[in-house]
Amino acid sequence: MSEPCIFCAIVAGAAPSHRVAETDLAVAFMDIFPVSEGHTLVVPKAHSTNIFEIDDASVQAVAALARRTAHALGELRRPDGMAIYQANGRAAGQTVFHYHVHLIPRMEGEAMTFQGRARAEDTPLAETARALAERLPD
Ligand code: 5GP
Ligand code: ZN
Repeated sequence: MSEPCIFCAIVAGAAPSHRVAETDLAVAFMDIFPVSEGHTLVVPKAHSTNIFEIDDASVQAVAALARRTAHALGELRRPDGMAIYQANGRAAGQTVFHYHVHLIPRMEGEAMTFQGRARAEDTPLAETARALAERLPD
């Protein structure tokens, strides 16, 4: 890797994050520029840039943790819907080049955006991360 990767730093605990859950191969944490309240990211612990690089074990671990996190988000926020997406390459909207899945609770009538405009406050992010962790199913 030529440039330092912020998500590798978060996985290693070298950069701060509001962590929801961790498994052997994946980590879920709050997005700091949330598109909606509860916007969570799930990443593999091992660095890979995108879907074209990631191995099966990591992609499956991310999917499994995303599924469990979606249940916790559903219970916490009771959203009308849940957008789950994953961008590959700048042209697809990828801005952090460490594979990640977005979980975005959606409410009926809310405008659909892909980039949050404001950095969220740490205290509510920490509270949401804790509330999600408590609701995470097996
Ligand atoms: P992408 O545009 O690559 O699909 O999504 C990258 C996401 O990472 C964005 O939603 C952005 O808000 C989020 N993000 C960027 N830097 C950080 C960071 O340092 N910490 C956290 N928690 N999220 C970040
Ligand atoms: Zn990385």
